[in-house]
Amino acid sequence: MCRHLAWLGAPVSVASLVLDPPSGLLVQSYAPRRQKHGLMNADGWGVGFFDGAAARRWRSAAPLWGDASFASVAPALHSSCVVAAVRSASVGMPIEASASAPFTDGTWLLSHNGLVDRAVLPASPHAESTNDSALLAALIFARGMDALGDTVSGVAADDPNARLNILAGNGSRLLATTWGDTLSVLRRADGVVVASEPYDDDPTWQEVPDRHLVEVDGTDVRLTPLKGS
Ligand code: GLN
Repeated sequence: MCRHLAWLGAPVSVASLVLDPPSGLLVQSYAPRRQKHGLMNADGWGVGFFDGAAARRWRSAAPLWGDASFASVAPALHSSCVVAAVRSASVGMPIEASASAPFTDGTWLLSHNGLVDRAVLPASPHAESTNDSALLAALIFARGMDALGDTVSGVAADDPNARLNILAGNGSRLLATTWGDTLSVLRRADGVVVASEPYDDDPTWQEVPDRHLVEVDGTDVRLTPLKGS
């Protein structure tokens, strides 16, 4: 399992989202507060952000807390759309940078928090790694992001034990699903945060109910129940 976070709003530094908050992804990498599966997220991390239309990523197979180079550079990276994750690899999955979210098709940055039986996912030449999350990302990209809700419901029907929390951004929109794990939304004056768990104790964080699709367009946040819920 993993923890992930996305931002859509005014340009802010990556450090202000990922490293600085009192319970941000950095702290969640060793002390998550709401994680249901796994104790910590030490098997890698990834930060993706849009630089104009270009999706850029920095990923690693090592714990986020040990990366002094990223901590030095992150305050200088600014973006209006960020997708970041810390990873706890599921049993049997490879630990390598390419298995860490966010995955990309060049247009979207996408993270998966959960677990799915790889036997229900089609093989894809576009999968970045052989872990379940990379295969699932390739399937979601192949079906198209407009079909995200249907793809998640369909995979869940094929694997009833699957946990399928997806979080994705394309520079102007965020899309997320809840299927088996936690997700919260914070509406700030300068933008919207969608995250596996609140990064601070602000009382205005709102929990997303399970089995929902979240769509963020500008400051508009829409929640829709998923099929099969
Ligand atoms: N199943 C994922 C993996 O091993 C676990 C990490 C996550 O929640 N994305 O890649």
